[in-house]
Amino acid sequence: MDFEFTPEQEKFRHEFRTWLEANVPDDLKGDYEPIDSTPPDWETFHKRVALQKKMYEAGWMGIWWPREYGGRGASLIEQVIYEEEFKRARAPLPVNFAPINQWGPTLIHFGTPAQKQRFLARMLSGEDTWCQGYSEPNAGSDLAALQTRAEDHGDYFILNGQKIWTTSAQFADWMYMLVRTDPSAPKHKGISCIYLDMHSPGVEVRPLVTMSGERHFNQVFFDNVRVPKDSLVGPLNEGWRVAMITLAYERAISGGSGHQNQIDRLRDLARRLTINGHPANRDAYVRQQLAQLQIECEALKYTGLRALTRQLRGQPAGPELSLMKIAGCDLVLKIVRFATELLGSHAVVADGSGPIPEAADWLMRVLNVRGTTISGGTTEISRNIIGERTLGLPKST
Ligand SMILES: Cc1cc2nc3c(=O)[nH]c(=O)nc-3n(C[C@H](O)[C@H](O)[C@H](O)COP(=O)(O)OP(=O)(O)OC[C@H]3O[C@@H](n4cnc5c(N)ncnc54)[C@H](O)[C@@H]3O)c2cc1C
Repeated sequence: MDFEFTPEQEKFRHEFRTWLEANVPDDLKGDYEPIDSTPPDWETFHKRVALQKKMYEAGWMGIWWPREYGGRGASLIEQVIYEEEFKRARAPLPVNFAPINQWGPTLIHFGTPAQKQRFLARMLSGEDTWCQGYSEPNAGSDLAALQTRAEDHGDYFILNGQKIWTTSAQFADWMYMLVRTDPSAPKHKGISCIYLDMHSPGVEVRPLVTMSGERHFNQVFFDNVRVPKDSLVGPLNEGWRVAMITLAYERAISGGSGHQNQIDRLRDLARRLTINGHPANRDAYVRQQLAQLQIECEALKYTGLRALTRQLRGQPAGPELSLMKIAGCDLVLKIVRFATELLGSHAVVADGSGPIPEAADWLMRVLNVRGTTISGGTTEISRNIIGERTLGLPKST
């Protein structure tokens, strides 16, 4: 792998950096994890949508999407630079963060020209917001067990059932979802992918408040909801094929993010906190922990670059993506665990008024971090994938 950037790539970096410096408002800056793509309230939602629209108009949203759908057909290296700069600027995740990375590419692949025309640009600009309706109370890891039914009524389906863990449903205009359209078929065969107008009569969104007191996700109930037939994406009863594409994109963004920013923040904390009257960063244990986190962060970075090299050479994806999901989640957990050690009693302060004003932020991270190992497929399922597809081990029963 060549670690040098070309002058054009450096120019691209400079342009994006300059744009971010001029346009990201201070009150939206932070070290965001994917879970933080859900704004805490409507005021923040509107501010983030306004920024997303501005980014879209300047050509900085969904840069790797083809130009005809509102992206800029960016190369893989440009994507890497984009992500580095985005994190460096501590810019907020777009409200459509997951849809842009998972659903947009799926729609580009399976959507009709009319569906692409209607939805793609508006997804990038934030004019439409989306949520994902896959999981159900008895269908998570075993997603194909889903029971929400869409009955064929000629021009439309009638939808009945329930989804759960639906991130950002409270802000969503649309839901892309998996439904059972042929209950008599084997479980992977009778599923279809459709989209639903969340403002339709019969849709009810109920909040699920997490232990951090935040509302990232919801339960969504469907009571005889009428869904036009042209909302079908991909062939009828072949929704599993569509879902596999979405889930592959989802896995690629589910290993946590911003590890380096968080380690930098820990280093800064260690400068300000004291142990036995000395700055914590002089303590041998603290130094060892910080060094170990940095080593793992570097290893993750180079594993990512190995995956990128394969892609640049046109080779099929290797085991790196599943490995990165597991290792990325593991590192986020370690960062947060060490943060609680370092912060001590500051780690339980929720109002941010103490000597460490950002302690409340760390507390939220401690309370939310476990979700990282569950969303986008649990760590156990990722291990199964590596075992079965990379190591050729027998299927788990
Ligand atoms: C932060 C967050 C956001 C989410 N957002 C969304 C969303 O927007 N839309 C959506 O549809 N879903 C969403 N989900 C749901 C998520 O996809 C599921 O929680 C996940 O797939 C696991 O399903 P489950 O919760 O039903 O757990 P289960 O599948 O019941 O698993 C329970 C435990 O059993 C283990 N297990 C299950 N099967 C196996 C196996 N074969 N081998 C080994 N171990 C196994 C699991 O690893 C887990 O530890 C979100 C989840 C989180 C945490």
